[in-house]
Amino acid sequence: AKMTGKNTFAYFKAAMNDRIMEKIQNQSELRRAIEKKEFVVYYQPQIDLKTDKVIGFEALVRWEHAERGVLKPAQFIKLSEETGLIVPIGLIVMEEALKQLKIWQDKGYRDLTMSINISVRQLKDNDFYQKVKEIIELTGVNTSNVELEITESAALQESESARHMIEALSELGISFALDDFGTGYSSMNYLKLYPISNIKMDKSFLDTLFTDEFNKSIIESTIALVQSMNLTVTAEGIESSEQEIFLKSARCNKAQGYLYSEALPADQAESYLLSNL
Ligand code: C2E
Ligand code: CA
Ligand code: CA
Ligand code: CA
Repeated sequence: AKMTGKNTFAYFKAAMNDRIMEKIQNQSELRRAIEKKEFVVYYQPQIDLKTDKVIGFEALVRWEHAERGVLKPAQFIKLSEETGLIVPIGLIVMEEALKQLKIWQDKGYRDLTMSINISVRQLKDNDFYQKVKEIIELTGVNTSNVELEITESAALQESESARHMIEALSELGISFALDDFGTGYSSMNYLKLYPISNIKMDKSFLDTLFTDEFNKSIIESTIALVQSMNLTVTAEGIESSEQEIFLKSARCNKAQGYLYSEALPADQAESYLLSNL
């Protein structure tokens, strides 16, 4: 049957309302989760390719949902960013991760670094600097063991206040990594604009590795170029020993991926640490 104009409108209006309603509902669920402290941090080991030892962890947020189990960021980070709820969630993650770092350092793992993902929304939040300082003081970690991962985006590039925030935090001794390198548009430009000391080569960039020799030489020259600027390189999403062998020959500094371990709850991450000294 043919829909009349009016029916079509009613149909779209209903569908639209459903979507808006769903969003509102999810948003209030997120708020509730913040209040009920349902966010936890998992830790993925980062390996020094020179020594094969764990040198740090990346903190990755998980939502321990009462009915739906452990949810990954893909299921809630986008909405968190759209609603600004990433600001409180990000602080929960940072506090938890730095408390954990302090526990491990007190157990003797002195040189571990903790890498924490930060969204542009957080960098644009005026209170962020003070909050980070408070968390550093509360946990008692050394800022030189803290790395914040930022992702290149138009939103970051266009924000003066985000750039100032990065500069202010780096003056505290915190270091910055450029995440998802190789997927954005002006990666090299970023390295000049921000005080970045490490780049994280994206999995998709590295997955082209074995498709042809040309890609291999692009990766090799990217690593060499980045290192010539006095930055280090972390390879992400390493799943095979072939990839590892190649990266070692290309003198890549660090690696992270399922070849070593997925992100783990703190106690399991600690066991991994113990068995990889
Ligand atoms: P990301 O920062 O690029 O983190 C790497 C993602 O790749 C993680 O997914 C990790 O579990 C996954 N991964 C690691 N090794 C492998 C591998 O060998 N193979 C494959 N296929 N995947 C691997 P996860 O934990 O689901 O996180 C997804 C994204 O969510 C992160 O990507 C990051 O952008 C964001 N995210 C996670 N935690 C936070 C957070 O606390 N704050 C913010 N703002 N974003 C976060
Ligand atoms: Ca990251
Ligand atoms: Ca990444
Ligand atoms: Ca990412």
